[in-house]
Amino acid sequence: MNWHAEAHFAVTIAGGSIGGLCAGVALRGIGADVHIYERVTGPMETRGAGIVVQGDLVNLLRQHHAPDLPMTTLRATFPDDRYHMGAAVSDVEQQGGQVIVTLNGERKVTSDLLLAADGANSALRHRFVPDAAPNYAGYVAWRGTLDESDTPPHLLAFFDDAFTFSEARSGGHILAYFIPGEGADVRPGRRQLNWCGMCVRMRLNLRAPSSTKTESAITPLFPRVWCHQMPSAN
Ligand SMILES: Cc1cc2nc3c(=O)[nH]c(=O)nc-3n(C[C@H](O)[C@H](O)[C@H](O)COP(=O)(O)OP(=O)(O)OC[C@H]3O[C@@H](n4cnc5c(N)ncnc54)[C@H](O)[C@@H]3O)c2cc1C
Repeated sequence: MNWHAEAHFAVTIAGGSIGGLCAGVALRGIGADVHIYERVTGPMETRGAGIVVQGDLVNLLRQHHAPDLPMTTLRATFPDDRYHMGAAVSDVEQQGGQVIVTLNGERKVTSDLLLAADGANSALRHRFVPDAAPNYAGYVAWRGTLDESDTPPHLLAFFDDAFTFSEARSGGHILAYFIPGEGADVRPGRRQLNWCGMCVRMRLNLRAPSSTKTESAITPLFPRVWCHQMPSAN
């Protein structure tokens, strides 16, 4: 038995998405007593059109004998009775060496460590580090997906089993790679080709990244170079 298990080291994780689940799986792996609290009540909505599976995540999944698909298998790798949905962390206080978390303004849980995995705009981080704020780096992204069944065969062969980066010579680049289709389906023919082009907003001469003019401004910058790098149909 290792130190965390012997000491009954208890961890509370706020947020049950990719960050919270990765931390939860890894901490359980070293013997910690982990509970995840996720404010969402029903099934988790997917926001990414192609969450990139990095080597670290693949290693974590393999170490814990989970298959390689991230979100659903991460969730399946973490025990149900320790994953609490509809439980928003609403308050935090420290008492000696312990942290007391309030859930939905009512129930309190005590642990040795609180891990804030409540997303990029973390309210918990803001509470402890109020000056840390997102800093817009000046990029605009243009993204879409194409059903594999609609992908021409020569492009299918080019992108299959590859993660492609292409210089757009517009101060940015474009990525394209296959992702699971509807219902996390990875069978050939059911996947989607995910693409995302990024360029520096200044190149677009736009006042704000949310401008409705973004699409018409950004589209000409990519095909000019990118399309020349694609294999042709003949
Ligand atoms: C619109 C959009 C599109 C994206 N597209 C891509 C993509 O195509 N490819 C890619 O690789 N990445 C993409 N990302 C980035 C990717 O979604 C994030 O990197 C990833 O989700 C970060 O995981 P996380 O666990 O840190 O945070 P999140 O996924 O944001 O999860 C935070 C979780 O904490 C929960 N929570 C928040 N507050 C509380 C609280 N007080 N108590 C309890 N729970 C709480 C939230 O409900 C949420 O489930 C996209 C992000 C967005 C917003």
